[in-house]
Amino acid sequence: MCGLMPGCVRTRRVRALIVLLMFSGCAHRVTLTVHQDGRVEGRGVDVKYPVHGEQVWAGYATKKWLPEVRFDSAERTTLRLKLEVPDGWTSAGTFDVSEPTPPFLFAWAAGRFTRTELEADGHVFVALNGSQEVLLKTAAMARFLRERTGLELPVRTYTQVFVHGEAAQEAVGMALIGEAALNDADAEWVFIHELAHQWFGVSLKCLDFDDFWLNEGFATFFVGAWLEQLRGRDAYEAEVARWKSRAEKVQGALSLAPPGLPRPHTPDSKLQPRGITYSKGALFLHSLRRELGEATFWSVMRNYVTTNAGRDVTSGDFRLALEKVTGRSWTEDFAKRVYSP
Ligand SMILES: [Zn+2]
Repeated sequence: MCGLMPGCVRTRRVRALIVLLMFSGCAHRVTLTVHQDGRVEGRGVDVKYPVHGEQVWAGYATKKWLPEVRFDSAERTTLRLKLEVPDGWTSAGTFDVSEPTPPFLFAWAAGRFTRTELEADGHVFVALNGSQEVLLKTAAMARFLRERTGLELPVRTYTQVFVHGEAAQEAVGMALIGEAALNDADAEWVFIHELAHQWFGVSLKCLDFDDFWLNEGFATFFVGAWLEQLRGRDAYEAEVARWKSRAEKVQGALSLAPPGLPRPHTPDSKLQPRGITYSKGALFLHSLRRELGEATFWSVMRNYVTTNAGRDVTSGDFRLALEKVTGRSWTEDFAKRVYSP
């Protein structure tokens, strides 16, 4: 078991030490052989994936091909993944993940893809079945995220795999995206949303799904922020209206996250509705932006991201960033707005 044990965690330093100690047995080396008919074999693995055209891919649910790793959002493991693919096929994947990472951020894809590459700002942007145009846009988005968060794109190479059918899934250094997005002006969101997860998810890792809004609420908020920069204030307000209507559709009273800093992880925490993690999370950031004004809000964002890069985070870490920048307590605000429905 590689997760943190409840009750063991007192300070961030102790927590980091526990992760290191417990982590020693959690490195995984996996070789998978992908066949043309979608069959995937490996040590203890013999499963069949759907074949979309001549493409096979897997993201998020690692249980099928990585059965030795417990599928828990609080789990942390490294991965060395090798894919053996049919002649003429290209592959992409989370081949070398050296930072302890939640397994839902592992993915791979194999198939007859064309590969396009762009070097920009010290990073390599790769598209499988994409184009230079897509890569230029992605590089501009990465620049925008860097400016707003104060943190460079946390991976050296970022690969977008454009697949037949539906997909919108982030992973370490990559994303699986449905190819329809390539020709749809309204699909701008999926590029920035999945890219934002390299900051919110891959670098700053929510402790478990109970604080998943720190991944999804931030990625959703950055869709609005990017569209505002690209198309103006009305585009941002249209996103805010979308978040409001989605949040209102959620039945029952739900809070954004449980309190505590640090707090023990919730074993097998379950995903909350998207109306909460994505929409209510983004709305909370929007309301802070309105209250604090541009300069202070983005200063909080930069403080939160640069202070917590490479770490596990809970809502309490975001509160600390707010307190550091504004010089006042946010305990009562969080009790009402984050920890209560
Ligand atoms: Zn997302």
